[in-house]
Amino acid sequence: MIAEIICVGTELLMGQIVNTNAQFMAEKLAPLGVDLYRQQVVGDNPQRLTEAVLTALERSDVVLFSGGLGPTEDDLTKETVAAALGLDLVLYPEEWDRIVGYFTSRGRKAAPNNRKQAMFPATNCTILPNPRGTAPGCLMEKDGKAAILMPGPPRELRPMFTDYVMPYLERRSGHRLYTHMLRIFGKGESDVEYELKDLIDGQTNPTLATYCETGEVKLRITAQAKTDEEGEALLSPIVSEVERRFGDVVYSENDEELAAVCHRLLIEQKATLSCAESCTGGLLSSAFIDMGGSSAYFVEGDVTYANEAKMGSLGVKADTLDKFTAVSRECAEEMAAGMRQKTGTDYALATTGYAGPDGEQVGLVYVSLASRDGVEVKELHLIGERSRIRRLAVLHALDLLRRKLCAK
Ligand code: ATP
Ligand code: MG
Repeated sequence: MIAEIICVGTELLMGQIVNTNAQFMAEKLAPLGVDLYRQQVVGDNPQRLTEAVLTALERSDVVLFSGGLGPTEDDLTKETVAAALGLDLVLYPEEWDRIVGYFTSRGRKAAPNNRKQAMFPATNCTILPNPRGTAPGCLMEKDGKAAILMPGPPRELRPMFTDYVMPYLERRSGHRLYTHMLRIFGKGESDVEYELKDLIDGQTNPTLATYCETGEVKLRITAQAKTDEEGEALLSPIVSEVERRFGDVVYSENDEELAAVCHRLLIEQKATLSCAESCTGGLLSSAFIDMGGSSAYFVEGDVTYANEAKMGSLGVKADTLDKFTAVSRECAEEMAAGMRQKTGTDYALATTGYAGPDGEQVGLVYVSLASRDGVEVKELHLIGERSRIRRLAVLHALDLLRRKLCAK
């Protein structure tokens, strides 16, 4: 399989920026069994880009593009490549909705020219998601040739290349990739990247890539190998090294979710659980009950939203609520202790907090865990919209339980 790289952009051509995207992609191709014969840089000029595209598709099986997927006039890679392949662009409504959502979630508005980023060929096209930006990438295929278009910003191109393009090239070339997906809770993405910089930058086989989800970070470690044993032999030293550096913030090596880890440990340890929830309003209990087999350990979940409910169902003291309010360390402690006492479970989790949108203390949340050893409370200062704060509160409660169960 023969490939070539075309990086688009006048800034790049004039030397105002360094072509790190080409270097990033190029060094990953040989292990995938892809022969890279040419790289070129073309300015934002439709005629010269068309010439480059036509020549490249003539002599290579796969052409990798970087840049020119933005919303502005000079971003014209997609239009030019589609025209060269004889494909017409149409609006993909679901992509447009996603772009609008991307802006809304950041308190901004999508401009009309962002619609361009939701236009793709009606056929012969696979969209490559871009969780870090507005412009999705895409893969256009015609007559056995493939054009793969990725955005220019390296922080967008890199995860797209490792998560979508590498697996595609692997399938096409018949080389096999082996992967471990580590999940990390309690460390931000930039810290993860910073502390693994030497491994991320220095490695070609295996490669490491991070990406974030609500409240957590995923780290994909991928090796190219001929057999399972060889793959595992390449992966396991890196996995161990990451775990050595990060300790117990790494909670899974195999893409298991936090709730699933707790579920598995509760069953293994034959322990029982109850939940008393205020701001999470049942989400925490649902996280467990969503999983088949939770009846083995899940006993009771109460949504005690009003002060009366906290007092009546959980035995939180009126005095505590008066003195410290319902969103306090003291209340969270009494909620978990009261729930555990009422149900007789080994563990009881509780949540209380201000999810917003109104109020001065939005994001202040307490999660607590009662066990035989007493009650632990964690104070959180969460940022985001109401739904995000509630979701993060659930994750922190799950993590509190996960750490307790792992310490057994
Ligand atoms: P945007 O939506 O940001 O306009 P785009 O896909 O249109 O994205 P470009 O406009 O070509 O991409 O480039 C955007 C930025 O990405 C550049 O200003 C530069 O900082 C970076 N960039 C582009 N191409 C490369 C490259 N080949 N190597 C490194 N960085 C690049
Ligand atoms: Mg641009």
